[in-house]
Amino acid sequence: MPRARLSDHQRRLESLAADYQEAKARLAEVGFTCEGSLVERYTSCHNPNCRCADPAQRHGPYWQLSWKEGGRTVSRIISGEEAQLYRQWIANRRHLEAVLALMRDISRHAAEHATAEAGHPFHGPARPRDGRRSSS
Ligand SMILES: [Zn+2]
Repeated sequence: MPRARLSDHQRRLESLAADYQEAKARLAEVGFTCEGSLVERYTSCHNPNCRCADPAQRHGPYWQLSWKEGGRTVSRIISGEEAQLYRQWIANRRHLEAVLALMRDISRHAAEHATAEAGHPFHGPARPRDGRRSSS
């Protein structure tokens, strides 16, 4: 079918389908993931004669991994070596979540065009208030 015959909604749907394919390709590259977040910590041992009495000379860095478990936040101190691994896996998870959010956004947008093309309004859930759209 020549492109000129496509309605505006059909053209938007084609473009959204291409965006969706692209997002799926990015998903395929995501490595292992880890829940939670990693925080670099410096501490004081509260010994007034220790170097850590100077805020610029505190002990550390220590790496703290935190995650939610049964509605509570659990934290563990981990080694710098472990922190490297978790940092990468947490970054992978954030990438995964960002791509999933993008795919949901594209899908919602596609649903609006698909229903408009069919001549009726979109009755699905509203777009999140802070939702970022990939295109208008
Ligand atoms: Zn100290």
